[in-house]
Amino acid sequence: MWSEFTYQALPMRVVFGAGRSAHLAEEVTALGLERVLVLCTPGRRDLAERMADGLGRRAIGVFAGARMHVPAETAEAARAAAAELGADGCVAVGGGSTIGLGKAVALRHGLPVVAVPTTYAGSEMTPVWGLTENGVKRTGRDPAVLPRSVVYDPELTLTLPVATSVTSGMNALAHAVEGLYAPDASPIVSLMAEDGARALIEALPRVAADSADLTARSRALYGAWLCGAVLGATTMSLHHKLCHVLGGSLGLPHAEAHTVMLPHTLAYNQPFAPAAVAVLTRVLGERADPARTLWEFAHELGAPHSLSELGVREGDIGAVVEQALANPYANPREVTADGLTALLHRALAGQPPTA
Ligand code: NAD
Repeated sequence: MWSEFTYQALPMRVVFGAGRSAHLAEEVTALGLERVLVLCTPGRRDLAERMADGLGRRAIGVFAGARMHVPAETAEAARAAAAELGADGCVAVGGGSTIGLGKAVALRHGLPVVAVPTTYAGSEMTPVWGLTENGVKRTGRDPAVLPRSVVYDPELTLTLPVATSVTSGMNALAHAVEGLYAPDASPIVSLMAEDGARALIEALPRVAADSADLTARSRALYGAWLCGAVLGATTMSLHHKLCHVLGGSLGLPHAEAHTVMLPHTLAYNQPFAPAAVAVLTRVLGERADPARTLWEFAHELGAPHSLSELGVREGDIGAVVEQALANPYANPREVTADGLTALLHRALAGQPPTA
């Protein structure tokens, strides 16, 4: 029962549906943009070129240099390209790395971003930017970086490999989980978190069984949208903090780090977040506690389950704990060095999550 809350809605336009990216030009035109730079990772260049072709004269170039965690030098290169070409906006076609690059350009030059997400990471729904420099990932919130329009086209996710689909989906689930016990949680956020998590839990096994199942892809992308909206509306806790540290300092791949860590951070917080546990039990069923069920769910879908698989060594843990504790942040349970060290050792070894 909610007795008190604050909810700040974010201004966003969402266009959803298979094939809808064919109408990208309408979104760009509606924003009054005439010279957009299309951003992508090197691997998505063909798709970005297709999008640029569809935009005709409104597209002035493709910058295919987006990289994970937005390294500062990549941001500088994209900003320079946008300035040289006289861009009046960016179209970010890809996952969180590409959308993050669009945000980095928006942060400096104020150029509006139209996002065309092709993973389940959810960055398109948030005013959060990230930049990595000298092994440290800085993040901040700025309304200027929130994409002005988001085109969700499930057809663009058909090429996302099953392994990436599963880890990206777990990344989205992490937003829902942390939104449920966030200090600024609210009834509407919990509704989005529950429905988003349910959609992903139903869809991911179907995607894993048949990656070309467009109905399952649509359901997964719908879930990713809602989970992203949860991320955009709330303050994240221990789980996201740890994943930022692991990504920024050890270069861990983002979605895989979320996948391994989520059951462990949830197990740590579960005894202090009964309302979140109630929602997650409705979504995940009662075969075990939610953290254990999520751990098994990821296993069954073939996801990595230990930090050591991702290249973390025992000797790294001390520095991760130190960095994670350096600045205080919200969390339902007090975060102690001992608690964090034990949690990270379990995650390192791929042991089942415990409180
Ligand atoms: P990503 O964008 O790096 O994509 C992973 C890989 O998948 C890339 O090589 C990409 O080219 C490829 N790919 C993307 N879509 C594809 C498709 N449809 N088919 C085939 N290949 C495809 O990874 P991500 O997990 O989406 O994003 C991670 C980054 O996003 C991290 O830097 C993370 O910090 C950031 N992020 C930020 C926020 C935020 O709110 N600011 C939220 C979530 C993630």
